[in-house]
Amino acid sequence: MTGDIDRILITQDQIRQRIIELARQITADHSPPAVPRDGGLTLVPILTGAMIFAADLIRQMPVRMKIGLLAISSYPGSSVQTQGSQMLWQQIGDVRGRHVLLLDDILDSGGTLRLVRQRLMALAPASVKTCVLLRKPTDGARQTPVDYVGFDIPDEFVVGYGLDHNNDYRNLPDIVTLKRSIIG
Ligand code: 5GP
Ligand code: MG
Repeated sequence: MTGDIDRILITQDQIRQRIIELARQITADHSPPAVPRDGGLTLVPILTGAMIFAADLIRQMPVRMKIGLLAISSYPGSSVQTQGSQMLWQQIGDVRGRHVLLLDDILDSGGTLRLVRQRLMALAPASVKTCVLLRKPTDGARQTPVDYVGFDIPDEFVVGYGLDHNNDYRNLPDIVTLKRSIIG
């Protein structure tokens, strides 16, 4: 598996550092008095890619939160370009009047966040914010405002730390590019 790596873009140490900063900022924005009167916080990782990011981030956030889950498919199989986002299933719970923070692994065309945000708004939350670990420099990403960004990266196909190719490589601890012979 590691023999398929072309180069390491972001190391696990860099990710760990940045997550501590992100968690501090998000926690400050979601502690009283920033989140006073109304509903509490529900974090919604977009599966499968945001699973590892979410697991690390929420353990650095000492605030009361509920977790909702939803699964999206946008890069089915071994594709390395978005095929359009599809909601596979959701288990978000009752978010009426609550503050929702969506977590995704990477912002590329923006299609995923647009779709999920639209679905969530129908559930009448108090607010919906977005946090992505990675962001690519695409037109779609520029047209998709997000509240928190971990890293801006070049427009390359990356895997590791939850991101996959054909559902492989999610368990790599670093964020890496793959050899040409692998992604074809
Ligand atoms: P968007 O909907 O913004 O085009 O893309 C977001 C989704 O596409 C991400 O949640 C992720 O699943 C997938 N994606 C986008 N870029 C990459 C990439 O470079 N590598 C991997 N593995 N998935 C990506
Ligand atoms: Mg995804």
